[in-house]
Amino acid sequence: MTQDHQWVIERWKDIETHYRIESILYENSSEFQHMKVVESSLYGRMLLLDGVVQATEKDEFIYHEMMSHIPLLSHPNPEKVLVIGGGDGGILREVLRHRHVKKATIVEIDPAVINICKEFLPTISNGAFDDIRADLVVTDGARFVKETDVKYDVIIVDSSDPIGPATVLFSKEFYGGIHDLLSPDGIMVCQTGSIHMQPDEQRASYILLKDIFQIVRPYVFAIPTYVGGFFSAMFCSDKIDPCKTSLNSLEQKSSASKIKTRYYNPGVHIGAFYVPGFLNERLI
Ligand code: SAM
Repeated sequence: MTQDHQWVIERWKDIETHYRIESILYENSSEFQHMKVVESSLYGRMLLLDGVVQATEKDEFIYHEMMSHIPLLSHPNPEKVLVIGGGDGGILREVLRHRHVKKATIVEIDPAVINICKEFLPTISNGAFDDIRADLVVTDGARFVKETDVKYDVIIVDSSDPIGPATVLFSKEFYGGIHDLLSPDGIMVCQTGSIHMQPDEQRASYILLKDIFQIVRPYVFAIPTYVGGFFSAMFCSDKIDPCKTSLNSLEQKSSASKIKTRYYNPGVHIGAFYVPGFLNERLI
């Protein structure tokens, strides 16, 4: 590999991904994690937390659309939304594109992520934190869930991987608390990692969530900078089954929402829940 350029390396146990970069825009450690923002040659500006790529200017829309529009267009009338994590503001941006949403509360443990992303990656939040419906709470998501008594229609857990501050967001107590915060037809989605690089995450989450929710359905989508092919999330509810949602109903709701998207569409929504056989086998 030529050494005439700088590179940022994302290291996994048995592989490394090298991204050519033009410059390092920010690097420091907050109270919670190491943070780095680089100008990458292929993906534009890129945020890494504890060495793991979280979001890039070029492909962040994929994750943020699929983690937001799938639950919001599955729910009959999502007015109150809770986002746990998501300090880059991408989920909040997509949630607030839904006119029905009256309030979106975002609970982020690390104010440095919010500030650094506003400064160096402003297109991700795109002003969402200033929306009158946005309510930012800076605290541990696990603590917030324990202490609040508000009911939500949709809860989106946009945490980093189960290392560092996000470890508590992968516990049965946390998801039991999430379940209690949902309205009867509420929906929760959470990211469960790459189906090739983090196989144990899907299985552990599924077993834990099946004890708490009536309906738990994995879904997959592909993000170039989340290495290892398909990335996964879990759709959880006591009443709404995404595998029984019709394409026609989604097409009507999506068109009525007037939200223009670049990855999500009703066909991709339905298709995302037709997951590879080996993933289903992993969840038995
Ligand atoms: N899209 C990314 C992914 O799929 O890995 C996650 C993006 S977002 C940057 C992850 C956020 O979760 C970070 O801002 C991190 O500070 C936040 N976070 C981690 N642990 C948390 C906790 N216990 N409570 C609230 N936020 C937390």
